[in-house]
Amino acid sequence: MQTANTSKRITVLGSTGSVGCSTLDLVARARETEGEGAYPIEALTAHSSVADLIAQAKEFRPALAVIGEGHLLEDLRAGLAGTGIEAAAGPTAIVEAAQRPSDWVMAAIVGAAGLRPTYAAIERGVQVALANKECLVCAGELVMAKAKRAGATLLPVDSEHNAIFQVLEAENREAVEKIILTASGGPFRTTSLDDMARMTPAQAVAHPNWSMGPKISVDSATMMNKGLEVIEAHYLFGFAPEEIEVLIHPQSVIHSMVAYRDGSVLAQLGSPDMRTPIAHTLAWPHRMAAPAERLDLAAMGQLSFEAPDEKRFPSLRLARNSLQIGGGAPTILNAANEAAVTAFLGGQIGFLDIPRVVEGALDRMNNGRGVAALTALDDVFALDSQAREQAMRLMSA
Ligand code: NAD
Ligand code: MG
Repeated sequence: MQTANTSKRITVLGSTGSVGCSTLDLVARARETEGEGAYPIEALTAHSSVADLIAQAKEFRPALAVIGEGHLLEDLRAGLAGTGIEAAAGPTAIVEAAQRPSDWVMAAIVGAAGLRPTYAAIERGVQVALANKECLVCAGELVMAKAKRAGATLLPVDSEHNAIFQVLEAENREAVEKIILTASGGPFRTTSLDDMARMTPAQAVAHPNWSMGPKISVDSATMMNKGLEVIEAHYLFGFAPEEIEVLIHPQSVIHSMVAYRDGSVLAQLGSPDMRTPIAHTLAWPHRMAAPAERLDLAAMGQLSFEAPDEKRFPSLRLARNSLQIGGGAPTILNAANEAAVTAFLGGQIGFLDIPRVVEGALDRMNNGRGVAALTALDDVFALDSQAREQAMRLMSA
């Protein structure tokens, strides 16, 4: 067996988040068995959790630690005094961290805020483990074109896309009939619309199977997460929207499937623990040990499946509509959704207002005329800002 190359130098963007911490947990375990030199770290970055970043930097010894909020630079410097670890702050410093030499970058910043640093890592033509799905939703064509030009290897971290990456026979691409993205259905899978209207942020982030950051947890509750994943799969693997099916599978054991023309359906299974797909990308093209609970299918007894209900979960339809409109429509969908989820988490709007705001922003900005294609990152950010402003107007109306 070929073992993973633990001399890979790595950078973790968004190291203090759920995916970031799971990534560092794998590094810590690899260092226990392979020695302190395993997976040397170039940079760790975070937005505002400076105490967590300092603790991680002291444990994992990166060359550089970057905090997004500029006013926290002094705290970071003080926390790292005497360690020899470089400290920097601000969004530009996060992009510079992504530009510094490393062989593998975990892109685990949440939202469109991750686009510039992720793009900067891709530009270097290295392996980029992509958790930050919003950067593909808001700038899919630009990101994929850049990866191709730069020779970067995009390794999907999202469990569904990682599953497809594992079972898709790239050399037999024309033999694929469709891909099937599984979805847990989230915490409100069986909740009526009337009850959903009253759901609080605490109820929405309590996911039945996965432990994740607050934004993706709310996206799972509205099922916008699955909508974003349809768009992510479209850009990552080149499937047309009608070749991407969504299937509810409440146990989250089958992470996704590929259906071939001969009737074969290949699936990847595992317990719902992000350390498995992250380990797959970290060790790629080899395999490494990961501590996820082993599946006990006999104890589980049954796996179940059902069709998604687009009446109670309109976000799925909205995401597909945005792909159909084309151009910058997915950028609008993503930005309006980010603004609405932030407002919901802040207690300013109700749960069902989230899809209402996203639909309103898409309708007003598309207006039946379509949305122009985006040819540069600056266009993406301009449209993203307009969509957030439109969403704010709809929320205050
Ligand atoms: P999280 O909220 O737990 O962590 C986000 C990280 O990004 C933190 O380190 C935070 O400091 C940093 N960050 C936040 N805003 C930033 C900004 N404006 N600038 C720079 N850094 C910023 O999120 P998460 O659950 O780890 O998710 C990260 C990404 O991975 C998301 O795009 C999510 O959709 C995707 N993802 C997550 C999971 C999961 O299990 N958590 C699964 C699949 C995909
Ligand atoms: Mg997913």
